[in-house]
Amino acid sequence: MQIQPADRIGKLPRYLFAEIDKKVRAALEKGVDVIRLGIGDPDRPTPDYIVQRMIEEVKLPRNHTYPPDEGLAEFREAVARYYRDRHGVELDPKREVAVLLGSKEGIAHISACFVNPGDLNLVPDPGYPVYGIGTMFAGGEVHRMPLLPENDFLPDFSRIDPAVAGRAKLMFLNYPNNPTGAVAPPEFLAAAVEFAKKHNIIVAHDLAYSEVAYDGYRPLSFLEAPGGKEVCIEFGSLSKTFNMTGWRIGYAVGRAEVVEVLSRYKTNIDSGTFRAIQYTGIEAFENPASVPFREAMCRTYQERRDIVVAALREMGLNVVAPKATFYVWVPVPAGFASSTEFVSYILEETGVVVTPGRGFGEFGEGYFRIALTVEAQRMREAMDRLKKALNKQRRPE
Ligand SMILES: *Cc1c(COP(=O)(O)O)cnc(C)c1O
Repeated sequence: MQIQPADRIGKLPRYLFAEIDKKVRAALEKGVDVIRLGIGDPDRPTPDYIVQRMIEEVKLPRNHTYPPDEGLAEFREAVARYYRDRHGVELDPKREVAVLLGSKEGIAHISACFVNPGDLNLVPDPGYPVYGIGTMFAGGEVHRMPLLPENDFLPDFSRIDPAVAGRAKLMFLNYPNNPTGAVAPPEFLAAAVEFAKKHNIIVAHDLAYSEVAYDGYRPLSFLEAPGGKEVCIEFGSLSKTFNMTGWRIGYAVGRAEVVEVLSRYKTNIDSGTFRAIQYTGIEAFENPASVPFREAMCRTYQERRDIVVAALREMGLNVVAPKATFYVWVPVPAGFASSTEFVSYILEETGVVVTPGRGFGEFGEGYFRIALTVEAQRMREAMDRLKKALNKQRRPE
């Protein structure tokens, strides 16, 4: 028997990190002290107040059954309280909140809910790859919106052909942004609402970094923009906020009809997030320990950010210190043909792993991404090695 995967599987981009992973494995086998600044996964554990609650919840037989399809009412109410307190946005927990198996799951499925073959989605480039992959799986076309440094990594709506906008069903946006670290000012959100209304496009806003911010900056919900809730479904996550990437819990909020369609779709595919995790999720948000935890987490990343930004500037690299996210987006130094060439060189020379910008789309070329997910001491060590390798490359013997 011959195994023939569907065309959509063949269309999947080759796994961006496969080549790098191979080199990392080879380096580890050789005994190289590898420092991983590639993948955006918090290095510290889930805080103890959350783990303790989970231990209690997991013991309760009431949690061992299928959860309700639409998610626990109590968890959805907690998300609504969080939006009111954090963003000043009122949500109806019954109609405007859905529970997800991590936000990636909702982001991947939203296209199947709204895109017919031949429709198109507007997708930021560089960007989180799932926006385009979900679109392709739904039979839709991807129209890339370049995020350029001269526009502060915000898409320029005036450059989108009205004929293209007219065919668009969804527009993915993500601020604070992975991989560029950019944030969106309120005027941008207002312009996005206007653009979406004019062309009848649903905005799918990815707010994964709602709580990872520095220098007093507070990330905005798209729903804070006037009229935002009318056009938007917003994806949130406990992953980056509470170091819970492995737990798989997130949520979608926004326009009730859009949330309802996503819930209906999911009802036919998965059976929800473990009840114990949903109850623990409420604890994550509402335990008084959450405030000092989040503050300390931001201070930790901010210290690492400052180390990285100062070191890169010393190397003559022109970087912007991000106000949010745990990524630094760095122009590839002169003398390298591509971001992948640079990343391979650095890995082989130093054992430091960073991500080539090309992996996030064609407009990511010319950049690499550093994730601030190792301790400050290791971060310094990584920067020292980078500096030596660049000096060597600039002044070859
Ligand atoms: C990490 C990340 C996600 C996924 O988060 P989960 O809730 O763990 O699925 C979504 N979007 C962006 C931009 C991310 O960086």
